[in-house]
Amino acid sequence: MGNFLPNELIERLRSRTDFDSEAFAEIHERGDKVTSVRLNPAKPAKLDLALSETIPWCKEGYYLTDRPVFTLDPLYHAGTYYVQEASSMFVSYIIRALGLDHKEDVRALDLCAAPGGKSTLLNSVLNNSSLLISNEVIKSRALILVDNLVRWGNPNVVVTNNDPSAFSRLPGYFDVMVVDAPCSGSGMFRKDPGAIDEWSLANVKLCSDRQRRILADAQACLKTDGYLIYSTCSYSEEENEDIVDWLITTHGFESISVDIEDSWGITKTRSRGKQGEGYRFYPHQVKGEGFFLSVLRKKTSEETFSRRKIKKEKSDVPKGSIDKWVKDPSLFYTFMQGDNIHIVPKEMEEDLAIIRSVLYLKNAGTNVGKWSGRELIPAHDLALSNHINMGIEAQEVDLDSALNFLRKETIDIDLFSNTKNGWCLVRYRGINLGWVKVLSNRINNYYPKEIRIMNL
Ligand code: SAM
Repeated sequence: MGNFLPNELIERLRSRTDFDSEAFAEIHERGDKVTSVRLNPAKPAKLDLALSETIPWCKEGYYLTDRPVFTLDPLYHAGTYYVQEASSMFVSYIIRALGLDHKEDVRALDLCAAPGGKSTLLNSVLNNSSLLISNEVIKSRALILVDNLVRWGNPNVVVTNNDPSAFSRLPGYFDVMVVDAPCSGSGMFRKDPGAIDEWSLANVKLCSDRQRRILADAQACLKTDGYLIYSTCSYSEEENEDIVDWLITTHGFESISVDIEDSWGITKTRSRGKQGEGYRFYPHQVKGEGFFLSVLRKKTSEETFSRRKIKKEKSDVPKGSIDKWVKDPSLFYTFMQGDNIHIVPKEMEEDLAIIRSVLYLKNAGTNVGKWSGRELIPAHDLALSNHINMGIEAQEVDLDSALNFLRKETIDIDLFSNTKNGWCLVRYRGINLGWVKVLSNRINNYYPKEIRIMNL
């Protein structure tokens, strides 16, 4: 397959001193598949995965010796881990190297977030007191992003569906912004050889222009001294180091250098003009796919967002409605999103009002359920929440019954002979999968049909 790598890409890479064209071609020819997962620290579980060594730059990340059918693992659907390419987990190393994991009240933006690899990572690595805004401009992809963050189970996340330009309405608001930009995708050639035919120099140019547009449109929302973590899965300088140069010259950013271990095989690179630092991942040097990342700090002065402008809204949530469903309800601010009652950590009430006033929210915090006028109808999101009251009626099931449940098939009533009638959690290896309603003569399966397992 090495022969089929685009000549124009290889020719350009050959001019780089850090590039070994033979080793690069050989690794593509071999086409090895590297599979890795990142565990959810909030949902420790007994996994059947063939975990081998940890990923050196991410302590929650593991290589697998074998790729299972993830769809047939209930613990995958329950959000105990995320299947993520190893190189991109480097973002966790960067967050920790910048000390943002220990900092309280960080406001983080993941601007190009679907399907949610970097967002679930940020949500785990940042402190619980931090707020993550996870944005995706494409509507259908924003839904997948919501599903993945719901699985992850944390309440300190807001998913938005906006064009990057909308973020200029929040000048000086964020402490850190991750821009994992849409790119020409050459870094994925080994994993997805089909992408090779799509590659062209014209597309690299188009992507490079779009990356500048995205960054120019959104950069005002970053505070002075706030961090920009820019990444792509492209090898092209036009989308990587040249963008770093442009950020330094046009938008007053400075390059931040982070120490890394030589043994990891990551290549430090510098931009042609301003010598801005970046990190290149070549698949013949690291156990992972092609990736580029650079860290910058905003040096231009940006007025810090003024919180005084916002008036607090009166809550229309019925008093006590979430009390028996949520662990420590007093820790949360409750609010209505459509017909549903949602929670976010109390300290985030004001931020939520600010975000709501300028962005289009797809999901905010955790959806606890719908208020019927008399009682709460629990949401699927609550079942997967890390803040559900674990005293709620629940039934542990075996693998076959768990898969039946996830396929939204009929559930055997005998499995629930020891539970009370009413709402009941279905649990596999101690981890919640979703809700059933136990009636005297049958079990109603409330697994959402949009995410049920199909054809397997
Ligand atoms: N960060 C994601 C993750 O780790 O799972 C992957 C992001 S992917 C590389 C780039 C994302 O940018 C895609 O979800 C794509 O829909 C979105 N995108 C495409 N065009 C865009 C644009 N003009 N502005 C902002 N985002 C865009």
